[in-house]
Amino acid sequence: MMKYERTFNFSAGPAMMPECVLEEIRDEMMNYRGSGMCVMEMSHRSAVFQTIIDEAQQDLRRLMNIPDNYKVLFIQGGATLQFSMIPMNLMKNGKAVYIETGAWSKKAIAEAKKVGEVIVAASSKDKNYSYIPDCSDLDIPEDTDYVYICENETIHGVTWQQLPNTKGHVLVSDQSSMFLSKPCNVSDYGMIYAGVQKNVGPAGMVVVIIREDLIRDDLGDLPVYMQYKTHADADSLYNTPNCWDIYCCGKVFKYLLSIGGLEEMHKRNQEKAKILYDFLDGSKMFNGTVEKSVRSLMNVPFVTESKELDAEVVAATKAAGYDNLKGHKSVGGLRASIYNAMPKEGVEALVEFLTKFEQERG
Ligand SMILES: *Cc1c(COP(=O)(O)O)cnc(C)c1O
Repeated sequence: MMKYERTFNFSAGPAMMPECVLEEIRDEMMNYRGSGMCVMEMSHRSAVFQTIIDEAQQDLRRLMNIPDNYKVLFIQGGATLQFSMIPMNLMKNGKAVYIETGAWSKKAIAEAKKVGEVIVAASSKDKNYSYIPDCSDLDIPEDTDYVYICENETIHGVTWQQLPNTKGHVLVSDQSSMFLSKPCNVSDYGMIYAGVQKNVGPAGMVVVIIREDLIRDDLGDLPVYMQYKTHADADSLYNTPNCWDIYCCGKVFKYLLSIGGLEEMHKRNQEKAKILYDFLDGSKMFNGTVEKSVRSLMNVPFVTESKELDAEVVAATKAAGYDNLKGHKSVGGLRASIYNAMPKEGVEALVEFLTKFEQERG
């Protein structure tokens, strides 16, 4: 099987990282490039670390073609802190439109409601978040500060194929579980953010890409860490950042550039997902839970006819070396998360296993 007898880890997050990146990190562990120390032990004010963070930012900018009028920020607190920071910083008129498409947009809505008025302009709750509502002609009040979406719902497995028509308002997107999985036109957004532990690196950091004019300097009453201005003015070094995470993510950015960037990554992700979806479409035992046109390339929920059989399959996959396939309790069944770093071989092996399981039980 694999070189280190590693499992194919289908976890929704934290998730797999590219093996070559882990090897590089291992090789630099005891003495990072002659510094005599590990990056974990390094001052965030040192010249060595400055190079690491500068390169991480430059490489991400190159990878996503981020225009100069956007800031790239590395902030702790995960994606969850952004549920609060976004309304605290972006609600000038105290009003925002949210689209409810699953568990993560729902959580963001709950936090935003603590800060201001939230208008849920569209929701797919009526069908347990198995589709993306039509957002081509929403009723958006003129004084809305922003329109918020979760671009890939990690738990429910739906993804936006076409961005909502915001009618000129700022678009804010939670890309946590699809970040860097395909090309992205940054200027379509006011702000993009992503917790990195799904598709990039270790848990403990969020990448925020925000248009400069949205960063306000009239928010002095907000706790200092909660202001985007704090992080922007200090180039993500206001306080001690998650140095280790910035280092690991920087390596993944370089890796993605080396394979040909996000177009190549997208191609590979489409190939991988097709293997699994083709199997589900042909299977009598396993069924996808999501409307086909909005299926996620990253998170693939599926069910059998009964909870007992679901549990049996999960146990069997685990015994066979495929980890973390139990579905989230709100959807049930199984969920295979096949992020960037999941090799095609992992998906092929899973499909082969499920095919055999079905044949033997069929
Ligand atoms: C995991 C996830 C979050 C929460 O991330 P944390 O870093 O754990 O706070 C938010 N949004 C989406 C889409 C996620 O997948």
